[in-house]
Amino acid sequence: MERSVLSIGSNLGDRLTYLEAAVDDLAATTGIAVRGVSSVYETPPWLPVTDSRFYSIVAIVETNLDPFSLLDTVQEIETRHGRTRGLKWSPRTLDIDIITFGDEESSDQELTLPHPLAHERPSVLLPWLELDEDAKIAGVPCKELVEKLDCSGIVRLGRLR
Ligand code: ATP
Ligand code: CA
Ligand code: CA
Repeated sequence: MERSVLSIGSNLGDRLTYLEAAVDDLAATTGIAVRGVSSVYETPPWLPVTDSRFYSIVAIVETNLDPFSLLDTVQEIETRHGRTRGLKWSPRTLDIDIITFGDEESSDQELTLPHPLAHERPSVLLPWLELDEDAKIAGVPCKELVEKLDCSGIVRLGRLR
């Protein structure tokens, strides 16, 4: 079993329901066990392309799937919940990114590990640190990464359900 950290976000429609559905679907997938789910964090939009704020959580899972099968699985879950693939970073019902997969490192465009922008996103680092204060990306503590970022404007909401 490998441990994988997933970032799950929504900024379109009934956002909390989409996040809950994503966690439920992951938990119901053979070969995936959900070990931890963070609180919901609200991030102000950084582009004026959406009027709905981004809600995000981190889920830590254990899986016996290989990384690409996990990617297929999370993309299937996105599609099941109305994710359409329009312009990059356009509003979406559900976005599930693989932040880390064990200690795997890959520069493959289809699956880059660790996720190439996770280290600069408070919306990933803050919920992850809530679940694991020793979280690291490529050996660098997330605590150190988050100190360098502007986290003003990000609000911790409650837990799901
Ligand atoms: P960002 O990756 O900056 O958060 P995004 O989530 O909006 O942007 P998507 O349109 O959801 O980007 O994904 C585009 C492609 O990124 C996917 O088809 C997938 O193959 C690829 N990808 C590369 N690395 C990863 C990863 N670690 N997790 C999820 N998708 C990835
Ligand atoms: Ca993303
Ligand atoms: Ca994505």
